[in-house]
Amino acid sequence: MISASARPYIDASVPVLREHGIAISTRFYARLFEAHPELKNIFNMGNQENGSQQQALAGALFAYAANIDNADALTPVISRIVQKHISLGIRAEHYPIVGHNLLAAISDVLGDAATPELIAAWAEAYGLLADALIGEEKKQYAAHQIEPGQQREMIVVRKQKESETITSFYLEAADGLPLPSFQPGQYISVATDVAVLNLKQLRQYSLSDAPDQTHWRISIKREDKGGQDHPAGLVSNQLHANLHVGDKLWVSPPCGDFVMDKNVSAPLILISAGVGITPMMSMLHGSLCQAPARPVNFLYATLNGDHHPLKAELLALQASQESPDQKNVLTTHFAYAVPSAEDHAINDFDQAGYLQLDQLDPALLPKNGDYYLCGPNPFMQAQRQALLARGIAPHQIRQEVFGPALLENLQ
Ligand code: FAD
Repeated sequence: MISASARPYIDASVPVLREHGIAISTRFYARLFEAHPELKNIFNMGNQENGSQQQALAGALFAYAANIDNADALTPVISRIVQKHISLGIRAEHYPIVGHNLLAAISDVLGDAATPELIAAWAEAYGLLADALIGEEKKQYAAHQIEPGQQREMIVVRKQKESETITSFYLEAADGLPLPSFQPGQYISVATDVAVLNLKQLRQYSLSDAPDQTHWRISIKREDKGGQDHPAGLVSNQLHANLHVGDKLWVSPPCGDFVMDKNVSAPLILISAGVGITPMMSMLHGSLCQAPARPVNFLYATLNGDHHPLKAELLALQASQESPDQKNVLTTHFAYAVPSAEDHAINDFDQAGYLQLDQLDPALLPKNGDYYLCGPNPFMQAQRQALLARGIAPHQIRQEVFGPALLENLQ
């Protein structure tokens, strides 16, 4: 717990961080990479370029200061950070490096306002957080039976185009040994040498198939160039173009706390868009296997049928449920933003336009449902608001962000 002498300085930092948080996080990363360029191999340099990492750190600092004594609010956030750190191979010795550069960045940005008392208070607050993270990460590495940063070599055994932009890679252990199980919804970090940066880069990919198989499957969207200010994604394009059957790659253990709660028997409602379908497919497989009678509503939004990955697999699962006693266990609803002429001809989607939860049959969104969201941030914000407006409680809704978490729900 933060000391009584430090507390007023942390409280006083809340408005300061609101105003200067981005400047501090930007200065922090500049300092960090200047002093320790080797850490660029651990951080996602794409998120540095597009500014989302700086924004996320500024939000996290603000949220930490604002909730410094609110363990209930901080615990889930810490749990999510720990999971990400395990997948990245963060080690205890990284924390003093980060702490030193963070305090220096606060001093740089605030100038004379960064009094020795304020810096001492932040040193204490950071130390508390670092100790909590180091302790939890130690337990997690032990549970995975790995050393920090230890990865597993995998071999690509199948490469399958799933849509115009998404391709699946089926991976088996290169040493032929069995793979550990994972919880549906979890992801792995994949290591890739990026020649243009002269760096190794780690990217997270959700496991998109059922757990307890001899392979893991990841389904990767190729991030195409989207105009001058939106260059093509480095790793996703490289994996699409250069990773073939027979190639090897190093990955982290399965991580992440966006997982299906197995103790809930209420209907499972999976709502996703775009490549956000990946953890949902794994949860769907997991649910049908573990609790075959539990109803699942699978709502999915995409551009059109050409951008609808894993559809045949989903429909085959649905067909396999249609025995007399299991009918309607799996209900699907597909929203195509701009259906093609072929989509209209086949007529195998449910609505044209964006997924509008307020216009759906209430049976698709039961009051007692267990809700999971994954997709672009604006999509998730819209669906979350729509669910809350329909009387779904916040604790019934979980979501996964395919980028640095922005912690909107903490402030
Ligand atoms: P990057 O090179 O990292 O670029 C990312 C974005 O930043 C691009 O849109 C790019 O245009 C933009 N950008 C880069 N430089 C600039 C600049 N100078 N100015 C402005 N914008 C810029 N992805 C999947 O495909 N499937 C999954 O199942 C999946 N699961 C995930 C699970 C989790 C928990 C997380 C955190 C992410 C997941 N992702 C998934 C996303 C994935 O990890 C990568 O972020 C994604 O593949 C893009 O990586 P990239 O290297 O291709 O793009």
